[in-house]
Amino acid sequence: MSTTISDKESREKAARHVEAERPALEFGAAWDYAPAPESKDHVRLEERYGLFIGGRFVPPRSRKHFATINPATEEKLADVAEAGAADVDAAVRSAEEAHRKRWSRLSPAERGKYIYRIARLLQEKSREFAVLESLNGGKPIKESRDVDIPLAVAHFFYHAGWADKLAYAFPRHGVSSIGVCGQIIPWNFPLLMAAWKLAPALACGNTVVLKPAETTPLTALHLARICQEADLPPGVVNVLPGAGETGAHVVNHPRVRKIAFTGSTDVGKLIQRALAGTGKRLTLELGGKAANIVFEDAALDQAVEGIVNGIYFNQGHVCCAGSRLLVQESVAETIIGKLADRIATLRLGDPLDKNTDVGAINSKAQLAKIRELVACGVEEGAALHQASCRLPEKGFWFPPTFFTGVAQSHRIAREEIFGPVLAVMTFRTPEEAIEKANNTPYGLSAGVWTDKGSKIFQVTSKMRAGVVWANTFNKFDPTSPFGGYKESGFGREGGVHGLRAYVELS
Ligand code: NDP
Repeated sequence: MSTTISDKESREKAARHVEAERPALEFGAAWDYAPAPESKDHVRLEERYGLFIGGRFVPPRSRKHFATINPATEEKLADVAEAGAADVDAAVRSAEEAHRKRWSRLSPAERGKYIYRIARLLQEKSREFAVLESLNGGKPIKESRDVDIPLAVAHFFYHAGWADKLAYAFPRHGVSSIGVCGQIIPWNFPLLMAAWKLAPALACGNTVVLKPAETTPLTALHLARICQEADLPPGVVNVLPGAGETGAHVVNHPRVRKIAFTGSTDVGKLIQRALAGTGKRLTLELGGKAANIVFEDAALDQAVEGIVNGIYFNQGHVCCAGSRLLVQESVAETIIGKLADRIATLRLGDPLDKNTDVGAINSKAQLAKIRELVACGVEEGAALHQASCRLPEKGFWFPPTFFTGVAQSHRIAREEIFGPVLAVMTFRTPEEAIEKANNTPYGLSAGVWTDKGSKIFQVTSKMRAGVVWANTFNKFDPTSPFGGYKESGFGREGGVHGLRAYVELS
């Protein structure tokens, strides 16, 4: 592949590269923002959190706890109980009893009222949840405040509305619930993923055992408090923090009727193997390596904003991130120049500062993975471009980065980096763009930027991806189904399609 930017020039730009091991350089803006930190006063953290089973916080039978930290400072926020096999068993039994005796017997409209109440309480406490999400996950407060929390609330409101209308969603069918659903979620959108899982399951009359990711358990535990405040019948929602082993116990518990998993493709495959032949239902929302395709006739400045949003939003910890940029050769130099200028203006730092664009990497392990893949990109001969920004001394940080001179065979073009790292490639014709975009084992999302409506239809209809955005990126809505092709998983979440995984039809 070639870009019109020369290798020499690329390497000179790469020399501006600043990483933890290099001294920080500062250039660019002659003025700066004053700090605008969001207050933490309204967040009440416990020193120690139990497991949420049967409507109460209880100490773990495993007797184990682990520390959950703030990835921006590495400071401990709280100790959290770790669920073992006996805890999972207790939670599943509690969920089963709640399903049999209470939740499945309630009228659908009554169920809807509970979900509506959860939505209202979450909305009322949205500031608290936004701060908590940024503290525990490292994402900028403006993202948790303006995206994660409002979308989580919207999912509960939307599904509250479905609870008594399932007969309309599946006309000519009898509709009943499945039973206990085991739900395992990742660390990139902790509360939002909890909402994506809980809201449809509850609306369809199921009960839930939810396992949040090890690094980000706090908002799920505070959501459990909201379930208490909403007077949700005990056992309808159970929250069991823990590591991968806890997730495996949930997956393998014989009385769990359905598993919904969001996370890496590797773990998704393990789960699929474990469930083969058990008769349990499964939906998998896995990794991605989305192509963001920019044609020469696109509004280029708008496209650059879409590229930035596509890859640097949430530090690139996004399964549907636009991590491969395919740009038409005639405008490649312009786009790369604009992109370099634009990332120089991104503000990296304190996630609780309202002006921060790029927050902390979620964990030390994820930072190591990003560094390894970036080093591999350099070794394989791609040219590195990095924003020159000062990285805080404590915590886990990685500057906004992109590579030019990327070949399709490079690891950075094939593997999910799950960090703020973009691989830029070029194309000449729409056919070549489609071919390259689909040349991946994944198929979760894609983006197309062009001024021509006909080209949008021509290209999007040939993309093997669950969601394709046109002249925008990373737009989410509870009414719209989300999910993958190929190794990005199967099943849909959101919209009418998302209800299907949580009902039995007769
Ligand atoms: P995982 O797939 O390991 O984690 C997702 C969830 O599954 C977490 O709750 C995790 O627990 C749990 N889990 C781990 N192992 C098992 C198991 N054997 N059985 C059941 N549940 C399990 O992702 P990682 O956090 O390890 O991230 C690794 C890579 O995965 C990232 O670098 C990224 O590329 C990709 N990823 C993709 C996501 C997506 O949305 N597509 C989300 C997260 C990661 P625990 O947190 O304790 O490990």
